[in-house]
Amino acid sequence: MCSPAQFQVAYIVSQDLIKYSSRLPSNVGRSILVHSLANALGLLSQDYSPHTRLRVIKPDPATFDDLSMYHARNYIDAILLTVEPGTESESVEFGLEDDCPRFSGLPEYVRLVAGATITAARVLRIGYANISINWDGGRHHAQKSRAAGFCYVADCVLAILLLKKTLPAPASPLSSRTPNQRKYRVMYLDLDAHFSDGVSQAFYSPANLKSKQVLTLSVHHAAPGFFPSSPLAQLPFEPSTSFDPFTLSLPLLEGASVKTFANIWPHVECIKDIFNPDYVVVQCGVDGLAGDPKCKVFNWCLDVAIEGSLGWCVSRIVNEWKGSRKLFLGGGGYHSPNAARTWSYLTSIILGKPLSLSINIPDDPSHSGFPLYAPTFTLDVPSGNMIDKNTAEYLADVQNRFERVSEILRGVLQSQ
Ligand SMILES: [Zn+2]
Repeated sequence: MCSPAQFQVAYIVSQDLIKYSSRLPSNVGRSILVHSLANALGLLSQDYSPHTRLRVIKPDPATFDDLSMYHARNYIDAILLTVEPGTESESVEFGLEDDCPRFSGLPEYVRLVAGATITAARVLRIGYANISINWDGGRHHAQKSRAAGFCYVADCVLAILLLKKTLPAPASPLSSRTPNQRKYRVMYLDLDAHFSDGVSQAFYSPANLKSKQVLTLSVHHAAPGFFPSSPLAQLPFEPSTSFDPFTLSLPLLEGASVKTFANIWPHVECIKDIFNPDYVVVQCGVDGLAGDPKCKVFNWCLDVAIEGSLGWCVSRIVNEWKGSRKLFLGGGGYHSPNAARTWSYLTSIILGKPLSLSINIPDDPSHSGFPLYAPTFTLDVPSGNMIDKNTAEYLADVQNRFERVSEILRGVLQSQ
């Protein structure tokens, strides 16, 4: 069991990771804002929290072999080895068009972002840290052989594949469990406003109703025309032949607020308790926060003191989800200053010392993004005026579906 005083946090970043992540076409300039705000707020200093040691760790760029744990070799060739722009047919085949165009530095970006998440997973595996963070990761739409939805590399999938592997002798970092007792379990929880299609699909196998090492649960918005379109994005429906209790979705309707998140959160924790993971990978996309200029579907906010907020959910995971190591990843979020605010604030929660949301954004030479935080120049991302369309009837349906899923999951796990 971990107590907050024992947490040791690995924060994965390097100048190269910032440089190339800042070129991501969907989020140009975001990475540099995120890390420079965290630094300006003192979060990356070992002195920030006396009870929690944070180490900044540089990522090892992913190798071809690292990427081939999941990705197809011809896709890796297409994103890593092509110096000249690929042919049109190649771009179509691999999804390198429209919202995922090739860009200058794509090979370096892929190696560094995947490498950062793999590094974050490795430090957990060897017991160097209990929690690791890669805010440049969380590319949950990338597929085995295809880029999609601003995502070129499936870093979440690569981390899960690594974490589920049994550690070689001599010692397991999770000393209470040996490989003879059971294989490691990894829970993937996705809080981005979009469905985690790339990750969920990677581990989905409905015909095989037996205990699995990986459980995915995505909380998101789903509606006709809302990206990504997938039958897996719907509420679990047990009689269906496509039902897999280890691949779960919890779609919310427009305007989801703290009230709705507080209502559904016990279902998330119930699934976690039954599955009892050794590792939890949390994708913290921030496009469900109020004011996101592209997403505009939820009305979520940050304040850890408000039950159901994003800060509150992350605090629950850090402080109440005992006995597992955690990997926090970024994701979507198209208001870059708000992404920087959010991931800095979540870092402070992870460090056991939440910042006040009313503090001013630092205006010092090391923090060049200051003017972008107008007009408030504070840390907060408050909720807006959007109406929450998640009715009591809808939330009751969610509850019924998840009660049934819990029953099935319990049965499957106990029968193994
Ligand atoms: Zn998203």
